[in-house]
Amino acid sequence: MSDDNVHGVSTAAPVAAVAQSRDEEASSAPAPACPAPAGGPEWRHEIDPGVTRTVARTPPTGRESPLYRPLRIFTSDPSASGLEGAVAAVNVPYEKLEPGPSGRLFLVDHHDADTGQDYVRANLDDPYPLLGKGYDPAPSDVRFHQQMVYAVCCNVYAAFRVALGRDITWGFARTEDAGRLWLRPHAFRGVNAHYDKEQGVLCFGYEQAPDLKGAIRVLPGEYIFTCLSHDIITHELTHAVLDGLRSSFSIPSNPDVAAFHEAIADLIAIFQRLGYRELVHAAVRKSRGLPEQARQLVELARQAGYASGFNGALREAIDETSPRQYDESLDPHTLGSVLVAAVFDAFLIVYRRKTARYLRLATGGSGMLPPGELPADLVDLLADKISALASQFQGLIIRAIDYCPPWTSASGNSCAP
Ligand SMILES: [Zn+2]
Repeated sequence: MSDDNVHGVSTAAPVAAVAQSRDEEASSAPAPACPAPAGGPEWRHEIDPGVTRTVARTPPTGRESPLYRPLRIFTSDPSASGLEGAVAAVNVPYEKLEPGPSGRLFLVDHHDADTGQDYVRANLDDPYPLLGKGYDPAPSDVRFHQQMVYAVCCNVYAAFRVALGRDITWGFARTEDAGRLWLRPHAFRGVNAHYDKEQGVLCFGYEQAPDLKGAIRVLPGEYIFTCLSHDIITHELTHAVLDGLRSSFSIPSNPDVAAFHEAIADLIAIFQRLGYRELVHAAVRKSRGLPEQARQLVELARQAGYASGFNGALREAIDETSPRQYDESLDPHTLGSVLVAAVFDAFLIVYRRKTARYLRLATGGSGMLPPGELPADLVDLLADKISALASQFQGLIIRAIDYCPPWTSASGNSCAP
């Protein structure tokens, strides 16, 4: 995230870049189909609508329009403590919103598919939430659920847009309202979530928590909403964006394809979270500058993991025991975690190299930290390094997708369709 942290509201570097380069162009229409050359042979192919689909660009806005809309979110999930930086106010690119929220890229559905109820819609342009950085972070307020999925999706999309330097079109099959991904925070009962490629929807489940005997801050019977997990929202949105970039990667032609999808989704979830200054700051202070020992930095979907009976987070970015080994027979999430662990290992190596000189300066040249709390300036510096490096790694991962082949065969060899 950014260096800009005015009045406690952080602006992610990609969001700042998007805001500073607001399009001056009007909404773009889909590219017209190429006419057949006069006197030439008849066309023997059709252009799929997905090829010509474009994302409507932001219409020109007046100078008086704000660049950002500050909104509060959970940086991990509701089970995290406020002392761990559980809540952050983040700036999302400003756009005029209809109740939902319903914007240019995302439409949040207020229907609960399990109970059949239509909930009240979040109206983020209403004066009261506008003045208060959105609705209060409350697991019991469905308007905050809607705000959370909207804000996180906007910021993750901005990260992709800035890393690639272009708008990304969606890859789903739905033709109605094809420019917007639909977000369904209350789609079904269960501690799970998925991207529906046919319908063009991110579906988030919810369920009553079992008795976790105090393992995390969840009461027996309390509802667990996957739409309040920052990691799960980011993971599912990354599936959708990756589908827009490489639609054939949703076909599991070999075990690596599905594992690659899961690995990229987990990596973006981890590095996106490392951008939240308060969370990283608290983790660095607690772990004395060792990110690999800070569970807030390496665990994925802690609350959902416990609620699903894992007795811990859903997944982790590090190998606690022996290094993970590649094995085609593993399920896609576990196989993908081999790549996640390798990339996070590289992140830790670069982090140690970049911060070694500061540790030497802080310790009179020994590099060995004395017992006790780290000096506040050193905590600031290490936390800033983690966030900046995470942003760089996130950009590297996103740009690497552009170098991937459009399709992979069953043998794993890449080839054009
Ligand atoms: Zn997934």
